[in-house]
Amino acid sequence: MSTTHKPVVRRCVSCACLKDRTRMLRLVRLASGGLGLGQGFGRSAYVCRSRRCLQDARRRKRIQKSLRMPNHPAIDATLAAELDKEQS
Ligand SMILES: [Zn+2]
Repeated sequence: MSTTHKPVVRRCVSCACLKDRTRMLRLVRLASGGLGLGQGFGRSAYVCRSRRCLQDARRRKRIQKSLRMPNHPAIDATLAAELDKEQS
């Protein structure tokens, strides 16, 4: 059996491509009902750290659908903040 470490890949909610999860933005639906970013246990959604995928996820509410949190304001705010970072 191989002991080579393979990167753990996750599927982007926007473009559906598989990427190393360390290069993606992770949003988590916490047990408390809140939204976690990067850390935390619970249902999670991943999106590429690219303007295209962040914008698409925001416009189409893909994170909200994936996490089944249709009206959570923190999701849109988080995507907006990440888009600001990508502009630089
Ligand atoms: Zn993507």
